[in-house]
Amino acid sequence: MQSLNSEFHWLQLGDVNAYLWTGAGGPSLIDSGYPWTTEKLLQEMRAAGVHPADLKRIIITHADLDHTGGLTYLLEQSPARVCCHTAEAAYVQGQKHKRRRGLGGILNTPIFWFLNWKYQSRIKHIAELVLDGQTLPEGFTVIHTPGHSPGHIALHHKQAGLLITGDALGHRHGKLSLPPAVFTPNMGQAKESLQKFLRLRYDTACFGHGPPLTPNAADHIAAFLQAQPSA
Ligand SMILES: [Zn+2]
Repeated sequence: MQSLNSEFHWLQLGDVNAYLWTGAGGPSLIDSGYPWTTEKLLQEMRAAGVHPADLKRIIITHADLDHTGGLTYLLEQSPARVCCHTAEAAYVQGQKHKRRRGLGGILNTPIFWFLNWKYQSRIKHIAELVLDGQTLPEGFTVIHTPGHSPGHIALHHKQAGLLITGDALGHRHGKLSLPPAVFTPNMGQAKESLQKFLRLRYDTACFGHGPPLTPNAADHIAAFLQAQPSA
């Protein structure tokens, strides 16, 4: 666990990240790791002084198993309300599964079918369905960034100078990257969604995968997007 400011904490779950907001409106968890990182997630939350029973909300950037894997367990321990984009709800509830692209996608299909069957959250009720531009009680504004998944969201906290990109952008090995093609059914839309980040002001960017980027994250992300070949 690493606190990025007194109210916002980076929970390091290995290959994937979750975040914890402990300021006004919280405590709220953003994403929940893989099913098999739940013990680590609980440790990281405890290090920030938060127990599952304390959580008010769990905000899900998108339904992929590396972001929703802890949900089933957490909801057994917590009265937290689950929050996701309207277009993502059926995926978070395990009623729909996203397409994967190309040969890699086809070859991986049986593996993902098995993982979804075994682990996908099948939560019955999503208390809060949100839309682009909506401001949440924690002060985050929802940025609908479809492409990697239909209801993928990023979260912008203007006052705290934070952008949580989810998987709209990655940051591994010191480099920004587009979401992985094989897991991104609509890459054109994913690239278009990123243009929304150019209108935002923030100093720190936090990713679903890879370490936070700070300071001047908005400048680095703008430079990365400008260097992308136009579609
Ligand atoms: Zn991911």
